[in-house]
Amino acid sequence: MGIDYSTLRDPNSEYTMRDLSADAMGVTGDRGGGRDVEITDVQTVMVDGNFPWTLVRIYSDAGVVGTGEAYWGAGVPELIERMKPFVVGENPLDIDRLYQHLIQKMSGEGSIGGATVTAISGIEVALHDLAGKVLDVPAYQLLGGKYRDSVRVYCDCHASEGEDEERGTTEPDNGERTGRQVGAASAKEAERVVEELGYDALKFDLDIPSGKERDRANRHLRNVEIDHKIEIVEAVTEAVSDRAEVAFDCHWSFSGGSARRLATALEPYDVWWLEDPVPPENHNVQREITRETSTPIAAGENVYRKHGHRTLIEEQSVDIVAPDMPKVGGMRETKKIADLADVYYMPVALHNVSSPVATVAAAHVATAVPNSLAVEFHAYELEWWSDLVEESVIEDGRIEIPEKPGLGVTLDLDTVEKHMVEGETLFDPE
Ligand code: MG
Repeated sequence: MGIDYSTLRDPNSEYTMRDLSADAMGVTGDRGGGRDVEITDVQTVMVDGNFPWTLVRIYSDAGVVGTGEAYWGAGVPELIERMKPFVVGENPLDIDRLYQHLIQKMSGEGSIGGATVTAISGIEVALHDLAGKVLDVPAYQLLGGKYRDSVRVYCDCHASEGEDEERGTTEPDNGERTGRQVGAASAKEAERVVEELGYDALKFDLDIPSGKERDRANRHLRNVEIDHKIEIVEAVTEAVSDRAEVAFDCHWSFSGGSARRLATALEPYDVWWLEDPVPPENHNVQREITRETSTPIAAGENVYRKHGHRTLIEEQSVDIVAPDMPKVGGMRETKKIADLADVYYMPVALHNVSSPVATVAAAHVATAVPNSLAVEFHAYELEWWSDLVEESVIEDGRIEIPEKPGLGVTLDLDTVEKHMVEGETLFDPE
């Protein structure tokens, strides 16, 4: 990076009418107990995982270091570096105020969504690890305590056989990779993941091209394309339905009308949820589909902060809300979204593509809310995923909530160093 942001003019310095720093708020650390602690440094290392994971470390003068993680995304480490002057010198126990302080300070950069909120999320997760260690409590305790000792994990699956060739083809009606073929390969993989890896909850992609698309820009599904997707859903759900629940992800692909026809056509099948059938910006379309079908509809991973989730939840535009914790604003923001969803008796399924660090952090949130369905695991094809931390994280499709202080996982720095993105420097010692 090489830029010393502390020497640059703060673009928001003229607009500090709502400065939430400790100095401006008159908040002191002099209250006894563990409060007398200050943040001394913030560092990041980007690791080349199944996605680029941005690991975050917050150092303190109490000799304790907090580790967090932000969702992947270009520019996130630079944004965290940019925010460093706003957190150094602050008390890491004031997590809510620091979150709001960063949102306010970064408002010019666009802190209602995108990479700025993702970067703030990484800092917020690290604050939970640090605060838990200072106070000698597990992170879930900072969120109000536990509903469950372990949380369910669902495994995002890919049908290896033939799917890669299937992707990207634009050949119409070429007779290859029919829905039956993709369905058979997916069913075989579902069977393997259930029997060999021990999961009882799965997710498969449903936006796999059928080879029959005439125009991918208009989002319209012809009946023959819907039939292709029904064949996949039928094969997978029938293969494992007595042993596992199965969700299907559409990645914001279809028009409102096509999504409605697809969701209706899937009603006879045991679909756990149908995810992101339409683009994420217009919640009204999402709402109409949810109202008109009995197939459960989920969305949320491309929505930021509790404010972004407000209409999804208040208008019951989804059956299941699916925020991504290290992207949406962090652990407390996710807890607040889950609490708002619970006002509408709506379950939460946490989207997650992270390393073990943010995966465990998401599990701490999932145990602290009543309405958690499951937390995603998106890296079963990355054989060194679990090596990133010393502890075992996922066992038999569940995460046992750690009882150690903070997040309860310890980075294996040899693994971090081995897989960090070229040009990155390892964290300073604790
Ligand atoms: Mg998704």
